[in-house]
Amino acid sequence: MQDHLSVRINNLPVSQTLAMAAKARELKDKGKDIISLSLGEPDFNTPDFIKEAAKQAIDDNYNSYTPVNGYLELREAICRKFKRDNGLTYDQSQIVVSTGAKQSIANVAMVLLNPGDEVLLPAPYWVSYSAIATLAEATYIEIPSTIATDFKITPEQLEAAITPKTKMVFFNSPNNPSGTVYTESEFRALAKVLEKYPHIYVLSDEIYEHINYGEPNFSFAAIESMYDRTITVNGVAKAFAMTGWRIGYIGAPAWIAKACTKMQGQITSGANCIAQRATITALDAPVSNIQFMVDEFYQRRNLVLNLIKDIKGITANEPKGAFYVFPDVSYYFGKTIDGYPIHNASDFSLFLLEKANVATVTGDAFGAPNNIRLSYAASTEELTEAFKRIKEVLMPV
Ligand code: PMP
Repeated sequence: MQDHLSVRINNLPVSQTLAMAAKARELKDKGKDIISLSLGEPDFNTPDFIKEAAKQAIDDNYNSYTPVNGYLELREAICRKFKRDNGLTYDQSQIVVSTGAKQSIANVAMVLLNPGDEVLLPAPYWVSYSAIATLAEATYIEIPSTIATDFKITPEQLEAAITPKTKMVFFNSPNNPSGTVYTESEFRALAKVLEKYPHIYVLSDEIYEHINYGEPNFSFAAIESMYDRTITVNGVAKAFAMTGWRIGYIGAPAWIAKACTKMQGQITSGANCIAQRATITALDAPVSNIQFMVDEFYQRRNLVLNLIKDIKGITANEPKGAFYVFPDVSYYFGKTIDGYPIHNASDFSLFLLEKANVATVTGDAFGAPNNIRLSYAASTEELTEAFKRIKEVLMPV
């Protein structure tokens, strides 16, 4: 019956991160002792003050359909957040609240892209960018980078990738999967190129902004010449351990925000009422409330970098944010270990799952076929045990 499905869905790849998580869960259910380092999800509980706000919202009878673009009080709280954390001035009419940042990004792609438009994706990039661009019938063009440049693209690379069909470029800093954080001057150098091409829009995905171990996050829209053609995407999933609450949002030129509201109004309507009320509380609270999670991720990052050093043939950059490491494992391509031939990163990732009971995600999914992604949103004990197992299968004594 596959050919009865639309071309659209048949052309859409399955999310590799979700597929790996499902596979790991299936093996776990069969009784295998799997350590999952495959999902992009903080392993903390949502802070109590946010949970209390949600309980209050239920008691206060927030149960009706919400405004399609989000409660006014929430859009105002988002404006305060953008001002406080990012130095960005948005009016509430420029804000759209959605069911996760994933929907925010999909809305933007659907309202700006036409068939044949080109979307530039500095690689490695988050898996859903390419899938969403494909759904919007656009073509995506990868701009490659490696550990050698700390997974950053150069202004020259950006300029070389631009054509008259280029409509958008997606930036994501701190980056999933590499943990790379662009500095203000690096972003300004990229903006200098874009200034010459007024037909190009920028989607700046800043969902990991608070999980950042170095300089504070710099928002692309803070570059004056870029403000009118940048869509800033953010959400509460990562910073507040609220992945399941499903709240994301954009700050954008008002005409783009209006179009996203129109799109969302026909597909999902406004985001969940309780989650929106809780998000007002989350965003209005001082950022210091979540520092404990960032401190913990930082300790784990250092632990993981130390553990990786002990494993032959694997090299990694030092992630400056988010909660992933993205090592190059190409040393193992063409080798057979314990009867298991490894041709590429997918084989390597499956090898680790089957032989070491550790779930990771292949870099193919992120436009970086020499790498795999490991999430360190796991306990110190799990991380230590996972690397012990990886070492045992790669370097048997
Ligand atoms: N952008 C990036 C870079 C992400 O890693 C994720 C989640 N994995 C999202 C957006 C989507 O966030 P949400 O859960 O709010 O849809």
